[in-house]
Amino acid sequence: MSARKVVIIENNPATAEDIANIFTEKECNVLYAKNGLDGIELICQETPDLVVLNPSVTDITGSCVYKLIKDNPKTSDIPVLIFVENERDMFRFWGMKPQIEQNLVKFTTRENLAENIDKAIKLIEGRGVLSKFQIQSEQFKDVLGKIVEIYQSGQGLASENAKGALHELLDKVTTMLNSEVGSLMLLEEGPQELVIKAAKGLSEDLVGKTRIKMGRGISGWVARAGNPLLVRDIERDERFSRENNRKYYTSSLLSAPIRIKEKVVGVINVNNKSSREPFTEYDLSILTILTNEISIAIESSDWQRRLEEANSRIDSLKSSKRILADVARSLDDELYELTISQEVSNIIYSRLDYKEIIDAILEIIERSIDCHLCGLLFVDEERRTEIIVEIKYPTSQQEIDSFKLKMVETFNRLTGEKLLPEQVTIREADGHDTNIVNTFAETRDILSSCQANLLMSSDRPIGMLAVTNSFPNAFTNEDLRIFSIISRHSSIAINNTLLHKKIKELSITDGLTGLYVYRYFNDMLDKEILRSARYQQPFSLIMLDLDGFKEVNDNFGHLQGDTVLREVAQILKRVCREVDIVARYGGEEFTVILPATDMEGAYILADRIRMVIKNYAFGTKDNIISLTASMGVASYPESASTKIDLIKQVDRALYKVKADGRNGVCRALKET
Ligand code: GH3
Ligand code: MG
Ligand code: MG
Repeated sequence: MSARKVVIIENNPATAEDIANIFTEKECNVLYAKNGLDGIELICQETPDLVVLNPSVTDITGSCVYKLIKDNPKTSDIPVLIFVENERDMFRFWGMKPQIEQNLVKFTTRENLAENIDKAIKLIEGRGVLSKFQIQSEQFKDVLGKIVEIYQSGQGLASENAKGALHELLDKVTTMLNSEVGSLMLLEEGPQELVIKAAKGLSEDLVGKTRIKMGRGISGWVARAGNPLLVRDIERDERFSRENNRKYYTSSLLSAPIRIKEKVVGVINVNNKSSREPFTEYDLSILTILTNEISIAIESSDWQRRLEEANSRIDSLKSSKRILADVARSLDDELYELTISQEVSNIIYSRLDYKEIIDAILEIIERSIDCHLCGLLFVDEERRTEIIVEIKYPTSQQEIDSFKLKMVETFNRLTGEKLLPEQVTIREADGHDTNIVNTFAETRDILSSCQANLLMSSDRPIGMLAVTNSFPNAFTNEDLRIFSIISRHSSIAINNTLLHKKIKELSITDGLTGLYVYRYFNDMLDKEILRSARYQQPFSLIMLDLDGFKEVNDNFGHLQGDTVLREVAQILKRVCREVDIVARYGGEEFTVILPATDMEGAYILADRIRMVIKNYAFGTKDNIISLTASMGVASYPESASTKIDLIKQVDRALYKVKADGRNGVCRALKET
């Protein structure tokens, strides 16, 4: 085999040499480019077998180099190993992730460099096999599709429905490998035994009977080790039991594990070539690639499904794309931003609670920008302002205070607002260990580098994001770009949740019971008083409080308590008329406005409600809950002439029932 050619694109010569040494030891020819454009030129001239790319090359960004390699048909097949000095760089490049599997790109850091180089060399050695395989693998698309479908429907590969697909798969594998004997075994979780789910060329009796313990025999060994195995000559392999040997007439075999999400779920065995020649490494690569395809197909379908879910849930992704379109400038910018934005938006938009969103935003900033502190200043509609900080490196209280001051000052300067620092609270993002320590050996100016972006709602500033670093000029252009992308998305995401909250507040029905909410009841009471005064017609009000409801919660749990509340709501709706307004006043307190009803009418209705509740079997068949209610009844204008007094009166009447022993109705006193 001729020596493999590797191009390293890395602007630090010392690092390049380290990497080159590992490849040279493995008898590869190494070519070196110190920047992206030279690298592209070299790759086009030499068409190497592998490219090692440091995405932080200085002239054009790594993502651009990568795209140029992949866009050129002459070089698009060359695998790329992305070398990053630290996790942060990897995170910056992370937008590439969806393409990684397809293009055989791997990330590596210094820590696992040697190991990944080994893998990369294996990969390029297998590439000859791969290109042939790709032609043949077309015929697997259908069956892989079926397997993915079964997996996604949650039925599992061991289910009855999967049988046909597994047979088809095994049939194709054995045919491709020119064999007439093979089996597909799945691992049974409990007993940890492999059983045959599809077979070719084996007797039915053997198929039904075979159970192989994890670690036993060849299949058991492959399942346990998780590695594929080639046995050229069975006679000389002590792992194979001779008894089976006679039954199988096996002389040479291949076995490879099937993995789903890193876990071995089964094994595919292929025995004996029809030509009676032993299997080769080449045959094993084909089987291995194929079993890998199964797990890749399932995993990427999972990924696809999650993406679709996120997309359908979050319409705002669309608006973020619109913004992206505005922003796209050059090819490089566009790609770079798209990839980062997509990831950022996936993370941010998958949350609906704005507290969670703020935490997620801060976490993304902390991970992608080298800062000491990052903070989000948030002004709510009542103009309450708080700052949430994420503390990346140990920080003193004094530093936090000066950060706060600076944020408030900057916000005021940018918006013309006049926030007072003492009215602004500051807290650490949730779920983080506090990183505030009080003493420092060194004194440093936490605000040496400072950057802030406003967060805008359509008509007003709703906040500001800020990052700081104690080193001067700490932020690179890339940092700032990422920061502005995150800021834009943050504005949209926060806006969305605020809207969501508003919509919820505007709704007039209560989420638990479906009855009107207190606010609506209050408005309607105003209206009813006006109407009643105008038409000189009385109306009444019932206030109901369930008796001893705390006990229901205590004895049967809150969920059951909620169910009871829903049932009480149903009863009220059923007993009252269409025109009556039934509302949930608070926790387990309800109220009914009865238009055109006098005190006596209201009393009769209230007592009927009382009876129905008392005789109703709440809870479940096995756990019947008995319940009673106390009610006050008041009428306008008989009991009171203003809304406040009316409520006071009806409350007083209710209180009287409670004081007298509950389960009753009491009329409000006449206004004196
Ligand atoms: P009483 O009215 O007879 O004096 O006794 P009580 O136990 O009903 O006392 P009170 O009315 O003061 O307490 C109401 C209880 O109802 C307290 C709270 O745990 C419960 N509660 C309030 N709202 C809800 C709710 O939405 N769901 C559930 N499950 N319980 C609620
Ligand atoms: Mg109560
Ligand atoms: Mg009560």
